[in-house]
Amino acid sequence: MDTDVCVVGGGPAGMMLALLLVRDGIRTTVLEKHEDFLRDFRGDTVHPSTLDVLDELGLADRLADLPHRKVERLQFGFADGVYPLVDFAGLKVAHPYLMFLPQWDFLEMLAAEAGRYPDFTLLRSHEVVDLLRSNGVVRGVVARGPDGPVEVHARLTVAADGRHSTVRDKLGLTPREFGAPMDVLWFRVSRRPEDGEGINARIGAGRMLIGIDRGSYWQIAYLIPKGGYDAVVAAGISAFRAGVAGLVPHLADRVDEIRGWDDVKMLTVRVNRLRRWHVPGALLIGDAAHAMSPVAGVGINLAVQDAVATARLLTGPLLAGRVSEDDLARVRARRAFPTIGTQLFQRIIQRGVIGRVLGSDRPVPAPLPMRILRRMPALQKAAARLVGVGLRPEHIGTGTHRDGQRVEA
Ligand SMILES: Cc1cc2nc3c(=O)[nH]c(=O)nc-3n(C[C@H](O)[C@H](O)[C@H](O)COP(=O)(O)OP(=O)(O)OC[C@H]3O[C@@H](n4cnc5c(N)ncnc54)[C@H](O)[C@@H]3O)c2cc1C
Repeated sequence: MDTDVCVVGGGPAGMMLALLLVRDGIRTTVLEKHEDFLRDFRGDTVHPSTLDVLDELGLADRLADLPHRKVERLQFGFADGVYPLVDFAGLKVAHPYLMFLPQWDFLEMLAAEAGRYPDFTLLRSHEVVDLLRSNGVVRGVVARGPDGPVEVHARLTVAADGRHSTVRDKLGLTPREFGAPMDVLWFRVSRRPEDGEGINARIGAGRMLIGIDRGSYWQIAYLIPKGGYDAVVAAGISAFRAGVAGLVPHLADRVDEIRGWDDVKMLTVRVNRLRRWHVPGALLIGDAAHAMSPVAGVGINLAVQDAVATARLLTGPLLAGRVSEDDLARVRARRAFPTIGTQLFQRIIQRGVIGRVLGSDRPVPAPLPMRILRRMPALQKAAARLVGVGLRPEHIGTGTHRDGQRVEA
């Protein structure tokens, strides 16, 4: 196959990039190793800045039709009271809230919208296993498909294949790791109207639980000390259920819904980033370039913002048929500041709050960063802006959009 841009991975970064490129008549092929987007416990938080982008794409109404919940504030209860982390309601933006919606619905919506354009190809069940190269330049990929191997030749290859990026490995690029004090166990239990709404955070002795209201059920993140999964499993599922019920007593009659470890998905938390996001012929974006901590649930948004910046910076060179190394370097130059700044914020919360909670054998009072936040509304506002809007919000360029009319280079 021949294409202009080969996108590896149909996650938020890959699907958003593909949609933006095909709108400008750039032939784009996405290879996604799974047959569908149906994967449980993925990032499901869509932030105000991403909602702005969807508005700009004219997709806001369709998004509003998908099953979703809106959350305006995040707060944590410590031994000495409830402390605010962020309150989006005061933000002067079109959508001052977090929208929780299943990632598969979001991705199917992007795929359906991109599918309206003739230059879009989505190859599902195609796992990229190698790169095509000549004279040190990446020229496309080799994938394993249902009917055998497929070669996709491309002028530009974009790795949007997530935190375990195959393309990154094949390029021999190693991200710098920053470490994290926790891993996260994800599971669900049913929700009743009397439970309350929104985000529900509980902190106990060496444990922390965050419940996300998904309508008919709670999606629960249970934080454990880094590397502690084997010990949790060894203690047995009954002890795990008892731990959950200890933190949230009103769930005690429902913890049996966690039937075994198959119902619990472990997320190894990683915070890392590459120093260089490109090589000749290839670019890395989203989690492939920088895995984010789950703190404040910004992973999808950073991935989408990378895609928007990439499309805006590279559409011109792609249409002109020349994408130089300088063009590729511009993507990292644009996105490094929000990536580094957001990771710094996450690392402060990880070390100052989560590490302290998980390292203690008794319920802790609010650590210093939370006490400072509570006293300083201006800082709460800044935190809400950092999380909800981001440090450098991206917008869809209006100059080049040709609504799918192919432009020959
Ligand atoms: C369990 C879990 C919970 C999370 N919770 C949150 C949350 O609450 N909020 C939040 O914002 N973020 C969360 N995240 C992070 C968030 O999902 C990611 O930051 C975001 O999805 C990154 O988008 P991406 O497009 O860069 O990569 P991904 O979403 O990882 O997408 C990569 C895609 O590439 C595909 N792929 C991988 N390798 C290949 C290959 N070789 N060939 C073809 N396709 C390939 C994958 O199947 C996948 O579809 C969570 C992540 C996990 C794992």
